[in-house]
Amino acid sequence: MPTPAANDGPASLPRPSPATMAALKAALEGVPLLDDPALVRLKSRDFFWYSPILKAELRGKAADLVVMPRHESDVLRVARECVARRVPLTVRGGGTGNYGQMVPLAGGVLLDVSNMSRTLWLKDGVGRFEAGAKLIDIDIAGAASGWELRMHPSTRRTATVGGFVAGGSVGVGSIRYGQLREPGNVAALRVVTMEDEPRALELRGADIQGVLHAYGTNGIITEVEMPLSHAWPWVEAIAAFEDFMQAARFAQTLGESSGIVCKLDTLIAWPIPSYFKPLQGALPEGRHVVFAMIAPPSLESFRALVAAAGGTITLERVTPAAGDTAEVPLYEYAWNHTTLQVLKVDKTVTYLQSIFTPGQNLAQVEHMFRTFGDEVMMHCEFQRRPAGISCSALQVVRYTTAERLYEIIRYHEEHGVRISNPHTYILEDKGPKIADADHQLAFKRQADPYGLMNPGKMSRWTPA
Ligand code: FAD
Repeated sequence: MPTPAANDGPASLPRPSPATMAALKAALEGVPLLDDPALVRLKSRDFFWYSPILKAELRGKAADLVVMPRHESDVLRVARECVARRVPLTVRGGGTGNYGQMVPLAGGVLLDVSNMSRTLWLKDGVGRFEAGAKLIDIDIAGAASGWELRMHPSTRRTATVGGFVAGGSVGVGSIRYGQLREPGNVAALRVVTMEDEPRALELRGADIQGVLHAYGTNGIITEVEMPLSHAWPWVEAIAAFEDFMQAARFAQTLGESSGIVCKLDTLIAWPIPSYFKPLQGALPEGRHVVFAMIAPPSLESFRALVAAAGGTITLERVTPAAGDTAEVPLYEYAWNHTTLQVLKVDKTVTYLQSIFTPGQNLAQVEHMFRTFGDEVMMHCEFQRRPAGISCSALQVVRYTTAERLYEIIRYHEEHGVRISNPHTYILEDKGPKIADADHQLAFKRQADPYGLMNPGKMSRWTPA
């Protein structure tokens, strides 16, 4: 993948004029709106500030108006009025994306779906939710009947289900269920188009791929139907190791032990644990650690596996219940929370997202660990991939310059490690499978013929 020096997406749409926005506001009478500039600016941000490159590029970008639909008929109305005036529209879920995914580049409407958060139904093994439902609330609702989401990002407490399917891809649970895009992990999406006469379409099966992880560039998701899994009272554990590769091999073995019911399998190299102040008693100086979430019936086998690998269990406790806000769950030190925990202490770091090759992943991880040392601090998330258990990494990088960062990226690519570049807001620069990108573009041609949805994010889009 060629590495861009900066984000070079298509020029976005012109910003709508104040007169156009005033007319739109009048036409939306009755729908909740926010137009206080400070609030609109605040709502127009996500966590792009992890990246010094995006921080500079997205400074000052904001919508003109926040619209907060209460139900799908409001969404259809907003879509119709925006299309009529050619006003750009960007959807906001929880605003926890990492790459400025929901930052409006051309002003217009920010559609905040937080008022659409109902659980529509929940039955054996599957549930249907409005797009603005928070993942934590879905799990709280499911727990009553023994079900939970198969996977969630580590932002479970703040992210929405619509934002997860539109902007996320993997998370806690991926060690069993793989990525969201694997067939069967999302059952259905209901999507409102931005045509002259907007429609609400039900997508099921392979059709889902057109909208999944498309950053809301080709449809407004109003409902999501998700398959669920058994809600265990998960036990979270830390296993500590003297040697990094001993820990890495253990994480791989744990993932491959299909009899052990595991929901999290995170490898973190020293010195990253030294930044996790609240966990200090469980993080011995200089040790590399594996964070895990294990179902109680598998604990005995898990402990035996740790002992056989030469590790020591330094923490074992029940994961705080979904509704418990007093305790920080261990998964909030994993996935992209690892970088956040380090950033709390050291504002100068940034991160990378690397995808290692199944079968060669441990050799690649070791090579990068030894090559970059403390400049690129290793943090891997093990997960099920179609070709077997492998890992991706969200390494914490001691940032010096953009040139050095791209040098590090190039080195990874030259050594067979794919980079899903977190320093760009352009969808295609993340390196999606071409088939997925084709699906997304084809669906955009149909659902957003004027290119009004989240303009500037899909680089292959050209107006017809
Ligand atoms: P937003 O940030 O609001 O939106 C994300 C994208 O989806 C935007 O492009 C937006 O326009 C679009 N969108 C939102 N709602 C809709 C809708 N209804 N219809 C159409 N488009 C829509 N991601 C992971 O995959 N796994 C992780 O483990 C993970 N960990 C994270 C940890 C931290 C600390 C942070 C800051 C981020 C992490 N992320 C992770 C990224 C992000 O939290 C997730 O992708 C999350 O699911 C986004 O949900 P959201 O509701 O906040 O979406």
